[in-house]
Amino acid sequence: MDIYHEPARDIPQQQASDVLVLGAGPAGVAAAVWAARSGARTRLIERSGDVGGMATIGLMSHWTGSTRGGFYQELLERSHPEGSRTNLIDPERLKTVLLDLLQEADVDLQLYTLACRPIMENRRIAGVVAESKSGREALPARVVVDATGDGDIAAQAGVPYVKGREQDGKMQPMTLMFKIGGVDTARAVFPGSFEETAQVPAGEIQALARAHLPYPAGHVLLYPSTLPGIVTCNMTNCIDVDGTKAGDLTRAQAACRRQLDVILDFLKTYVPGFEKSYIVSSASLIGVRETRHFKGDYTLTEDDILQARVFDDWAVTQAHFNFDVHNLTGPGLDATGVQRGFAQKNGYTIPYRCFLPQGVDGLLLAGRNISGTHLAHANYRVMPICANMGQAAGIAAALSVRRAVNPRDLEVRELQQALLAADVRP
Ligand SMILES: Cc1cc2nc3c(=O)[nH]c(=O)nc-3n(C[C@H](O)[C@H](O)[C@H](O)COP(=O)(O)OP(=O)(O)OC[C@H]3O[C@@H](n4cnc5c(N)ncnc54)[C@H](O)[C@@H]3O)c2cc1C
Repeated sequence: MDIYHEPARDIPQQQASDVLVLGAGPAGVAAAVWAARSGARTRLIERSGDVGGMATIGLMSHWTGSTRGGFYQELLERSHPEGSRTNLIDPERLKTVLLDLLQEADVDLQLYTLACRPIMENRRIAGVVAESKSGREALPARVVVDATGDGDIAAQAGVPYVKGREQDGKMQPMTLMFKIGGVDTARAVFPGSFEETAQVPAGEIQALARAHLPYPAGHVLLYPSTLPGIVTCNMTNCIDVDGTKAGDLTRAQAACRRQLDVILDFLKTYVPGFEKSYIVSSASLIGVRETRHFKGDYTLTEDDILQARVFDDWAVTQAHFNFDVHNLTGPGLDATGVQRGFAQKNGYTIPYRCFLPQGVDGLLLAGRNISGTHLAHANYRVMPICANMGQAAGIAAALSVRRAVNPRDLEVRELQQALLAADVRP
């Protein structure tokens, strides 16, 4: 590859914040709200024009899995003040709820702003360089929380990582979520997992999908929504793509978009209730399930999850979900069938050390980019668990600033006291 030497230049430096959070997904919003609630001057930057990450701009159907107490419970209560407590997501409502929470906590939010480079002082991160319509600017901070999903800044700061599955680097497929309107939901079927089958007049629905949808699409995942006649569809599929490469993201976006009309035709033809349906919207951000797994002071494993281990330095508690590994080579379930055998009934904990990236100080990881194996990630990547990770990381960041210590040297009992007060308990 040819190399272009970018000339050095002076750029404006904004006022320093105590805590700088990167990425406004479930983990980043949680981290920012809780850092601010814990007394830190907090800035949150997000590359897109909305808060919520995959939950909103990714057009997600529902919060999957669960955790104990904490921010996830608060999000459900704020999203459904009428008391329904459904885990279905109305993305438009959620955008407003999250914005309200950020404003109430007095978080300094800047949208349309990409975190580009870490500002390093030896092994300590001292902020980031960001780029937006306003140009390039330096955003200094005492603690940085990387909640970008891909760990963009942690990677550039030099934290060691692997991508995808340990043995071959393969990553879970990408999906462009979309919503279908005009569905007679009383007659429709909603297979919500790969194992869920349903008989429709022409046969079994998953078998029909394998026969009629273009590879690597070929499964049916449909979810009701909070709105009448609207169904969320998780059926587009693109394999062998890397979410840290713009070219692959573009290829996936185009491939999934080409599947939309075919999937709609399939549903109209084979699924009762969809005869007069139409596409009302598609996600403005393609859904990336998996990219980098960083080396942390601890790396969560599938065994920890299966044993429901309670770590001394627990930061997320009673987390529960199965190993949601999509097929890395086609539609449906992962060929290893690892999801099927999931037997664990008790919730597991995630230790604080998974948020601490090796080799870099002043930096915390939160959300799907914490330190964990490919299989463990397939479990903890769901949004309730990511939201509660963000809460813990935000409190830890604020406490580190207050105590003037590196997050690595924070007295974890103090973090846990704050979490217990938010009903997060092992
Ligand atoms: C297709 C699909 C379906 C899923 N289905 C479900 C489901 O039904 N239920 C469930 O609970 N979970 C589901 N998940 C998993 C879940 O959505 C994600 O794992 C979760 O949202 C991760 O949260 P996060 O906050 O870590 O990251 P994200 O939600 O990805 O948020 C990261 C944020 O950071 C921003 N960002 C990225 N890079 C930068 C940068 N350099 N600078 C500034 N901002 C940046 C992004 O724009 C985004 O807003 C699904 C995921 C996918 C892809």
